[in-house]
Amino acid sequence: MKDPIRDSFKRTKRIITRPGKKGGGSAPTPPGRGLVNQIILALVIFFILVSVYSFFTGLASDKQKISLSELAHDISQGQVTDVKVSGDNLNIKYLDGSEKVSQKEVNTALTTTLKNYNVSADALNKVKVDVESDTGALYWFASLAPIILPIMFILFFLWFISRQVKGAGMQAFTFGQSKARLTNPNDRNSRVTFKDVAGAKEAKEELREIVDFLKNPKKFLDIGARIPKGILLMGAPGTGKTLLARAVAGEAGVSFFSISGSEFVEMFVGVGASRVRDLFDMAKKAAPAIIFVDEIDAVGRVRGTGVGGGNDEREQTLNQILVELDGFEPNEKVIVMAATNRPDVLDPALLRPGRFDRRVTLDMPDRKDREEILAIHARKKPFAEDVNLNLIAERTPGFSGADLYSLMNEGAILAARENRTTIAQYDLIRSIEKVILGPERRSHILSKKEKELTAYHEAGHALVASVLPYADPVHKITIIARGRALGYVFKLPLEESKLQSKKEFLDDIAVGLGGYVVEKMIYDDISTGPSNDLQVATALARDMVTKYGMSEKLGPIALESAGGKPLFGAGVGEKEYSERVSAEIDAEVSAIMNDAMKKAESIVKDHRKVLDAIAEKLIDVETIEQKEFEELLIAHSIKPKKKKDIEHQK
Ligand code: ADP
Ligand code: MG
Ligand code: ZN
Repeated sequence: MKDPIRDSFKRTKRIITRPGKKGGGSAPTPPGRGLVNQIILALVIFFILVSVYSFFTGLASDKQKISLSELAHDISQGQVTDVKVSGDNLNIKYLDGSEKVSQKEVNTALTTTLKNYNVSADALNKVKVDVESDTGALYWFASLAPIILPIMFILFFLWFISRQVKGAGMQAFTFGQSKARLTNPNDRNSRVTFKDVAGAKEAKEELREIVDFLKNPKKFLDIGARIPKGILLMGAPGTGKTLLARAVAGEAGVSFFSISGSEFVEMFVGVGASRVRDLFDMAKKAAPAIIFVDEIDAVGRVRGTGVGGGNDEREQTLNQILVELDGFEPNEKVIVMAATNRPDVLDPALLRPGRFDRRVTLDMPDRKDREEILAIHARKKPFAEDVNLNLIAERTPGFSGADLYSLMNEGAILAARENRTTIAQYDLIRSIEKVILGPERRSHILSKKEKELTAYHEAGHALVASVLPYADPVHKITIIARGRALGYVFKLPLEESKLQSKKEFLDDIAVGLGGYVVEKMIYDDISTGPSNDLQVATALARDMVTKYGMSEKLGPIALESAGGKPLFGAGVGEKEYSERVSAEIDAEVSAIMNDAMKKAESIVKDHRKVLDAIAEKLIDVETIEQKEFEELLIAHSIKPKKKKDIEHQK
């Protein structure tokens, strides 16, 4: 049953999958109106057929019809000259030349019937009886028509309807077809190359080999090298995985089929798998080609562990991907690339040699990379003289490529909104905060008390951050609401590093509690304001204990995988540690939190005057920049952090 259905998908597919063309050749009529028209047409044809039929069957009906007993009577009277028998129909001719019709009894000879009506043999002999052959075409038609015509009509109608569905409502028959988007290698406009990807040096190096193979496969095959079939791009969201995959296709000048993992999985069982088959078939035809499966974790999760329905479908799809990967001939010039930001949840079967065995990691861009990315997105944008991308890069640690792209875009929007023709440095600086926290909400009016509370809260964060040696120095404090935050302290590390130490974490947690501590101390009450601070700080403390082995009591042990979910293969909700350890973790976390709170409390008590000064200034001007803030600190004999200090301390 399965194959004919698939065949019908195949047939109908051709019209839709051709890349670059929407709809296809046989421009179908809109489904609603077309259907009505066709039904009307079918009905008209039906009525024509019916009237033709009744014309034939009713041919004789213009002659007077008489009963058999009348016929017998007329024959006995000697008035009848001729009786023509065709089937059961009798055509009777009279002496006076008139004609009448009648019907004889079925399966009984006419003479027998007449004899039963007491017609004498003499009288009968005077009548000429003609029996017409039963095999006459008209006879057959007349007798079969009542059965055949309705059947024909029904078949005809069904045929019409099905044609209708195929023509307009094509989707009903095409859900098995792959939804891949094809990027034509010869399309110069949308072509992406390595030049469009900044940073990511190692990744590009690694992928250059693939480009080389796609361009010149013979070189590799001749020497017996096995070319990787699958390449997995891993990296945080927005680090340019999709972009890089496109760039590989652009560099090699091959067809690029892209589809996202979630598009494979749809409601109908078996469809994901058939899409995979389709996609690979298409790519093989277009070889050399790259198939790009974006967000493969949507289908490639560890099998048999998910919760909820739809897993069979996912597993079938995954299995089909594995089958296709295995089924590649070594000289088939199709390479599968996949991207994910959750490599930890992928099924191990996907990662074994011969499948996605090449793994390319994309890191968050460092400062130099950020500057390059900014430069790429600065192309074609008019900038004022004062723009310094280096400075923007410095102020955006933790920004991904996508964030930087949106920063540049926001800058341009700001400039355009203020009717300027060039983008200024100030636009870009404002955009940094907008990207981080959402747009400013100047219209959000704080009551006098709210404003004071927010000022003290933020001042608390800023003060603790300035006093603790391992916390990042404060760049800016504001109590202008932005996004969901009522105010915030903008901190920047003195230098970027990939590693963070336990001391830094502990100071960060204390800074996070700065606002909470101040509210508690000054108002002897706690608002809902610090709830997010508490969440962030608690999560950090928990990670210290369960992931980084930074707890004295539990020692060097990773109780949770990097993704925060239980380690590989473990079922949902299954913990890998006992209840006792679980209790110890909780105890450790709350110990860290309490220590941090004490630290913050003592700082706030010791520097109460500075706190008041910061808060008052905030209430007054609402935003304090780094320079003013440092002056304020110096005035209260706190030394602002400088680069060399921290190096000294380390
Ligand atoms: P991902 O797929 O990793 O989530 P994308 O490739 O979709 O991220 O990146 C989104 C956008 O961010 C890209 O279209 C591009 O404009 C920008 N971008 C990301 N990384 C880079 C980079 N290294 N160089 C230039 N632009 C980048
Ligand atoms: Mg992507
Ligand atoms: Zn806060």
